[in-house]
Amino acid sequence: MLSGKVAIVTGGTRGIGFEIVRKYLANGAKVVLFGSRQETVDNALKKLHEENGAWEVDGKYPKLTDAAEVEKAVAEVKEKYGRIDILVNNAGISQSTPLYNYTAEEFDKAIDLNVKALFYAILPTAKIMKEQGGGCIINTSSMVSISGQPAGVGYPTSKFAVNGMTISLARELGKDNIRVNAVAPGVTKTDMVAALPEEVVKRISMGIPLGRAGEPEEVANAFLYLASDLASYVTGEILSVDGASKA
Ligand code: NAD
Repeated sequence: MLSGKVAIVTGGTRGIGFEIVRKYLANGAKVVLFGSRQETVDNALKKLHEENGAWEVDGKYPKLTDAAEVEKAVAEVKEKYGRIDILVNNAGISQSTPLYNYTAEEFDKAIDLNVKALFYAILPTAKIMKEQGGGCIINTSSMVSISGQPAGVGYPTSKFAVNGMTISLARELGKDNIRVNAVAPGVTKTDMVAALPEEVVKRISMGIPLGRAGEPEEVANAFLYLASDLASYVTGEILSVDGASKA
């Protein structure tokens, strides 16, 4: 479904991002995953190469909250592969701190990685996509971008911003044949959920009509669809993959 396409996936070393990378590779894309440290990037690449030695996958670890570092990494991808067809902004952190225990620094952390870093990656990539005649950007949002969350307000705030950026840029970049969408996962079985307090996971899980948390691969399937030509007329969409959690 993605034969010949070149993709960047941030936060591609584990969880949902790792499954997106696998799914894209299995569907013929060349992928450069961005992680936070050399060690985790190397581990992810090793796993992928062991799974299929023919997969064309590479890794980098720019500081995603540093616009200049991200711009440089994006330029290196373009230099090596000649184009960038798909940008997946997936790296993110969650928070569950009650308001009265929050600090301004903690709030800033959510905004820096979950919002500003997306902009830093989109800016240089969109210029490349425009020049080559089009492309596709997919951001990882969350069901809390629709329902809110009763603690850790920095996290839902950041994901509401992700939706705003997605819909606005879809409107702005349509004329350049750049599609911009987001996937809004519900509770998905990754390290992020394992890090949440048990009672928070329990409370969220109780409200899932499908009666279970999602698998990372089920979320990655939505990223495959949105990146593929099957979604050629889909842009500005926030696609929920949440077992109807927020309904
Ligand atoms: P995860 O913790 O397993 O993975 C997060 C990814 O982000 C990792 O690859 C990590 O290296 C990267 N990352 C974290 N901090 C970083 C930093 N400072 N710099 C660079 N990279 C950094 O979590 P996940 O569940 O796979 O989360 C992926 C995305 O899905 C996030 O944007 C998250 O908000 C979103 N999401 C997850 C769930 C869920 O239930 N797991 C639900 C809704 C949305």
